[in-house]
Amino acid sequence: MSSATKKTNLTLRILIGMCAGIIIGLILQFMRSTFGDGKDLVISLFGLDFSVYGFFVENIFHIGGTIFVNSLKMLVVPLVFVSLVCGVSSLSDPKKLGRLGGKSVSLYLLTTAIAVTGAIVAALLVKPGEKFDIGADAVFEPKEAPGLAQVIIDMFPSNPIASMADGNMLQIIVFSILVGIAMSLAKESGTKVRQGFEFLNDVIMKIVTIIMELAPYGVFFLIAKLASTLEFNAFYNIAKYFILVFILLILHGIITYPILLKVFTGLNPIKLMIKMKDAALFAFSSSSSNATLPITLATAEKKLGVDNSVASFTIPLGATINMDGTAIMQGVATVFIAQAYGVDLSMAQLLMVILTATLASVGTAGVPGVGLIMLAMVLQQVGLPVEGIGLIIGIDRLLDMTRTVVNITGDCTVTCIVAKSEKSLDEDIYNNMDLEDEIASDELQHLTEKS
Ligand code: ASP
Repeated sequence: MSSATKKTNLTLRILIGMCAGIIIGLILQFMRSTFGDGKDLVISLFGLDFSVYGFFVENIFHIGGTIFVNSLKMLVVPLVFVSLVCGVSSLSDPKKLGRLGGKSVSLYLLTTAIAVTGAIVAALLVKPGEKFDIGADAVFEPKEAPGLAQVIIDMFPSNPIASMADGNMLQIIVFSILVGIAMSLAKESGTKVRQGFEFLNDVIMKIVTIIMELAPYGVFFLIAKLASTLEFNAFYNIAKYFILVFILLILHGIITYPILLKVFTGLNPIKLMIKMKDAALFAFSSSSSNATLPITLATAEKKLGVDNSVASFTIPLGATINMDGTAIMQGVATVFIAQAYGVDLSMAQLLMVILTATLASVGTAGVPGVGLIMLAMVLQQVGLPVEGIGLIIGIDRLLDMTRTVVNITGDCTVTCIVAKSEKSLDEDIYNNMDLEDEIASDELQHLTEKS
């Protein structure tokens, strides 16, 4: 099979899975509200009551979707640990690690600050929350958001095994870097251990390949469940908020990142966009940068030509601390909630929103809906009612899906910029659009042929 055919295959199959999911999900939702009295559609089969909605949505879709997301999540901790240890230990120059850290963290923070500033300015101009009659909608039980000091302390593990068991990404990153540095300092023993890690890395990447082949089905289950349960809130202000966040997310993705990439590297940003499509589709369906991490990492290394020594560090770090899409939502949401409650935000408060939203994005875990919980921290900092989150929670899932795509696009953009500056980007791979097929599909075919 030619690589072009294979390319069309996986991406097309994922898209078909997604569209089929939307159609089936909406049909189920329609059937439930039309024939099932808004609750369920029960039909009698051989004298037994059969719940159509319950059977498909709560069983088939729920089980299929959860197994798929879990199987990707299962890879995250081993992948980050092994890949980062390999990457760091292969850095012969310890100064490179310091440079990598400095560059990537500053760029991640910069892109987030740009995102949230743009979001606040746009929200002040569009005024989505003005003349909003807040009534029964504003009911929200906030979970407690961690304080800033705690976010910093929590980066350092006291028990790395517990960090891995909890999937605490920042702690895993800190531990992996330390192991990697120690391995490169331990000379001969370090080299031997490193070889083992590299073999392990190959094996884990094979699992990514196998799971990606199942992505069309996984995406179908996830989207079908979502489309059959989603509740659309028709209020004008909410729609205004939704559209504003949505447009800003798109603009950040198609204007800010391409400009940064072009200015810093001279690379053609359209190629990056095209090569990101499988990862973007999965980020959209799963709403989780963490679950998408294996695909983002493989995209950076295999399609964008970023060397493992850079990608293994910047991609997991980005999936953990770089959430530009989330910061955009938080910027608009803060202004929206202030307007809805009739509060005028001062210049100092707006600057505080930029600062806290940027830091909140560092503390936001790459899993669905966490951005909304971290919004509580931003609101508290400027003294706005946290219950305001109740106004937007109903439509957050769709925005969460979109902002996750922006989040991972930012990770790849910064990764390419850092890699190019470190001469760790293979431009032949970056520019080769024939490579633009599903990740490691050749490997999968190879596996199938062998068995
Ligand atoms: N779902 C987002 C992500 O995983 C985080 C959030 O904004 O809730 O990137």
